[in-house]
Amino acid sequence: MPVDLRSDTVTRPSDEMREAARDASVGDDVYGDDPTVNELESRAADAVGTEDALYVPSGTMGNQIAARVHTDRGDEILVERESHVYRWELGGLAQLSDLQVRTFDAGERAVPTPEQVREGYVEESLHRPGTGLLSLENTHNARGGVAVPPEDIDAAAEAANELGVPVHLDGARLFNACVALDADPERMVREVDSVMFCLSKGLGAPVGSILAGGEEFVAAARRVRKLFGGGMRQAGIIAAPGILALDNVERLAEDHENARRLADGLDGIDGLSAPTPDTNIVQVSTEDAGVTAEEFVAACEDRGVLGGAHGEYLTRFCTNLDVSGEDIEAAIDRVRGAVEDVAV
Ligand SMILES: *Cc1c(COP(=O)(O)O)cnc(C)c1O
Repeated sequence: MPVDLRSDTVTRPSDEMREAARDASVGDDVYGDDPTVNELESRAADAVGTEDALYVPSGTMGNQIAARVHTDRGDEILVERESHVYRWELGGLAQLSDLQVRTFDAGERAVPTPEQVREGYVEESLHRPGTGLLSLENTHNARGGVAVPPEDIDAAAEAANELGVPVHLDGARLFNACVALDADPERMVREVDSVMFCLSKGLGAPVGSILAGGEEFVAAARRVRKLFGGGMRQAGIIAAPGILALDNVERLAEDHENARRLADGLDGIDGLSAPTPDTNIVQVSTEDAGVTAEEFVAACEDRGVLGGAHGEYLTRFCTNLDVSGEDIEAAIDRVRGAVEDVAV
């Protein structure tokens, strides 16, 4: 069996989740009649301390709904240059909400400083569109699962709010950040206007994400979800495992521990360098070995370790619920073999 470290989305639902799916009470959720979806939404809102929450089929849909609700056609949206919503969602900001994107480079900090928010802000005028939304990301995926402290989220959000700009947080891995920093989720999202988090990543649910915020925001988001084709019927079948997923928050610490062990082990291999991660995403550079990420990923696959190429020399391994401590030890040995196979 390969050790599958491509993503934390690859986990299979547990037996308990499958049973919960089978036994879930259901109704037509478009009519608001599905008790299991309603329970998930209410528990999810409690988990992040918002007035309300909406169950959506994917994190991408959650982010795109938020962008649509917060903005007007032709606005600018301010995003980090390596952010998921900008780089990995098919230009949905343009395609679905008619937004013009303005990027900032937050570097290792992963969120903008208040100065960067003010610099990026565009005031609406006869000639300029006006900034409609600031989008933040925590943890920051492409920057290696960086856990952003709540104070940095607050500072960016407060700068935006002073300019009258609402703030969305792409918290696909919000709970990874909270566990890594020992921060309360409610505290983490205190200054933002909406937050999306994924049930289908480290929390282990088979399907779905949550878009949370104030009552008015969620009511508007519910309409846009329908518009985007995300109104689901007896969705309790997939929401039931999502409820169980909310109990998997604390165990994310195991993924983080596994990621540190993996990074440590890989960093010890000649030609590889892997900084210690904050959370469950390990980034490995193969530049010193003179091996491209694509060659490296293929060699690792031949040896039974799956990862993903995320740059010319950058490979990502992501620990998850289905990967044990022994799997990590095995993965380190196999990657060592893979490097010997391809290093020049
Ligand atoms: C995975 C991810 C998403 C999108 O989630 P999907 O459920 O795969 O659509 C959005 N933002 C970030 C940072 C992610 O890592």
